[in-house]
Amino acid sequence: MPDPLPARRTRAIIDRLEGQHPNADTELVYRTAFELLIATILSAQSTDARVNEVTPALFARFPDAPHLARANSADVEQLIVSTGFFRQKARSIITTSRLLVERHDGEVPAEMDALTALSGVGRKTANVVLGHALGIPGFPVDRHVLRVANRLGIAAGDDPESVEAELCAKLPKERWTRASDTLILHGRRICRPTPACDRCAANALCRYFTGLGATRAAPARATRLAARKPATKKKRATKKSARRRR
Ligand code: SF4
Repeated sequence: MPDPLPARRTRAIIDRLEGQHPNADTELVYRTAFELLIATILSAQSTDARVNEVTPALFARFPDAPHLARANSADVEQLIVSTGFFRQKARSIITTSRLLVERHDGEVPAEMDALTALSGVGRKTANVVLGHALGIPGFPVDRHVLRVANRLGIAAGDDPESVEAELCAKLPKERWTRASDTLILHGRRICRPTPACDRCAANALCRYFTGLGATRAAPARATRLAARKPATKKKRATKKSARRRR
């Protein structure tokens, strides 16, 4: 695995991608830190759009931690069923609400350790809440950030925590949340499993695209190479028939 690109180049890449996605932000709809926390827990193994479909009814019935802490799990399950893993998620959001009431007077704490001590809350969820609802910079790392950062060459490896640390070390703190939103959106729209490199604002600086080193994007690279095959075969056929004509 090649060494990740230095901080200056990383910042230049993020500049270009932020220019391409000027409105990058979480796509979850929320009004309070509590709503964002619950919505982010529900978004595991689901899509933001699907979560946004269920949260209006969920928060109309259980608007805050004290209400959700007292909820009957069957009632909650029924409201969130379409997000998948609904039994486990219902347990998590009810337990988290109970812990918020017991430990934090029903408020969402603004510390990483206190957040990750709740049920169903890992660093990614905590960073989403800190960065978007509490004004404390955080760098959520999801599968999109892992894929895009490895292809670009601005971070290496598939461990979210070490990729988070690496990217945070290269960017000023005030840029963390937006940079993460930008990489996530880029991964959803452009740098998908099969990347649309011709539409990428950072392609001239991308390690994968410029071929400066092997990255974890091997499947996508294979797709790109495979796309060249017909042209190569055609070339060979043309050469053969030219030889026959001679
Ligand atoms: S150039 Fe291609 S592989 Fe590199 S970040 Fe852009 S879309 Fe992804």
